[in-house]
Amino acid sequence: MPLSSTYSTNYRGRFAPSPTGPLHLGSLTTALASYLDAKKNQGQWLLRIEDIDPLREMPGANEDIINTLEAHGLHWDESVYTQLDQSARYEQAIHRLIESKVAYHCRCSRKDLAENNGYHLSTCPRHTPLPPILPDTEPFAVRVAVTECQTKWNDLVTGEQTHRLRQEIDDFVIKRKEGFYAYHLAVVCDDIAQGITHIVRGADLLESTPFHLYLYQQLGHPAPIYAHTPIICNENGQKLSKQNLAPAIDNQTAQHNLYAAMQLLKMQPPKSLLTSSVQSLLAWGMHHWSFKPLQAG
Ligand code: GLU
Repeated sequence: MPLSSTYSTNYRGRFAPSPTGPLHLGSLTTALASYLDAKKNQGQWLLRIEDIDPLREMPGANEDIINTLEAHGLHWDESVYTQLDQSARYEQAIHRLIESKVAYHCRCSRKDLAENNGYHLSTCPRHTPLPPILPDTEPFAVRVAVTECQTKWNDLVTGEQTHRLRQEIDDFVIKRKEGFYAYHLAVVCDDIAQGITHIVRGADLLESTPFHLYLYQQLGHPAPIYAHTPIICNENGQKLSKQNLAPAIDNQTAQHNLYAAMQLLKMQPPKSLLTSSVQSLLAWGMHHWSFKPLQAG
């Protein structure tokens, strides 16, 4: 049976930035889309700082993101959720997946896998029917064993999505050899813990969604509804990102930034709103919000 998103209850959405740098127009646009969708649906909008990877973090980015959201009137419900406090939850999920023989310990390096066309070494516990526990004398990653299946969901922006997961080749890491929890595990555990029903995020994460749906199924939890908004590019066609030196949002021009973000979301706010207030611009946005203009065709 194909895996699919089936959740439908009181709306709880979220914005989940990684504190790898300040927000730029692309990330502000994603925040705005998830905010407007939550508010249009009388839902809650939560803020989660995805500080799972200390090596990629930029000092001060956390506060910077918070200040930018506040300056743009994007006020979240409940307290800010951070991933650093969630290790017990992640360990619990890993334990459960290992117990049910869905996850296993793996020492194959990237080089091993590349040399084997994605297949694991014959000595890897991937191939043994025994409980996949290795003596912890050498570091190992924890991977989810993927069975050949089709993932399917009806994306509110990109429409019906069907992806095929391939046995063994697509086994994905949920805890790295260095001891860090992987994004795929953390995002699913946190969305479950926060009771998230709707995920509005950038289309750069479209390819990750089949792995998330697979985890939801293995953890016995209904998946949320997804909407992947278009990637915002600079004039050279490159995705706006810190790597491509996208300029940080200037909080002094909040209204102009929101106005620009709405235009990127194919909304057409009247020019007069540029000189009103952030609140009236957001109120107009809530009233006129729809995924329709973003849908192809
Ligand atoms: N933390 C991720 C990012 O900043 C977003 C994760 C998500 O929305 O699922 O790209």
